[in-house]
Amino acid sequence: MSIAADALTTLVDDVLACRKCELAGLLAAANPIRPAVLEDARVVLIGQAPGPVTDRKGYHFAGPAGTFLSLWLDRAGFPPNYFREHVYLTSLTRCFPGKSPSGNGDRPPSRSEVALCRPYLDRELALLQPKLVILVGKMAIDTFLGKKPLTETVGKVYEHEGRALLPLPHASGVSRWLNAPENRALLDQALTELSHLRVALGL
Ligand code: SF4
Repeated sequence: MSIAADALTTLVDDVLACRKCELAGLLAAANPIRPAVLEDARVVLIGQAPGPVTDRKGYHFAGPAGTFLSLWLDRAGFPPNYFREHVYLTSLTRCFPGKSPSGNGDRPPSRSEVALCRPYLDRELALLQPKLVILVGKMAIDTFLGKKPLTETVGKVYEHEGRALLPLPHASGVSRWLNAPENRALLDQALTELSHLRVALGL
């Protein structure tokens, strides 16, 4: 994948300056996560939204989900550090939505926030032209594949606009979905598919 580094740098500036959700009254204070300018990005990975650790540290997947995803890539046969060195990490929205009003976990971003942030994601995909996009969590999966249960999508590979899409479950380590043995088997299947894609696409 060739990278238009100057265009990515412009994207970084645009994202960091973005206050669209704040101005629309959707966020009390926008704090966009800085997109990485990867020298050699080979895969794009899209999550839901930054969590509190990412919000504090300022880079994508800085919290437990990043640790789990890196381990999952190891299981799919990628070399050490591939996750940080070759996977362009991004999400549907780029600002931490805050805690859920119920106090139970983080608030998922609203449809309006996702819509306002989408142009950045479209720019990233257009610039990076990845052969593989990994979709992490139901919200990212539903955005690209339409609403379906995770049990229908995890373990399968989809094709969209000439690129492979691989769904994975949320990887925070507190995902109850992975408590069920049959769902862990679907994750194993997804990582096997990821291993096949690694070889087939020369990632
Ligand atoms: S979530 Fe996206 S669109 Fe909204 S303020 Fe943050 S960077 Fe801008």
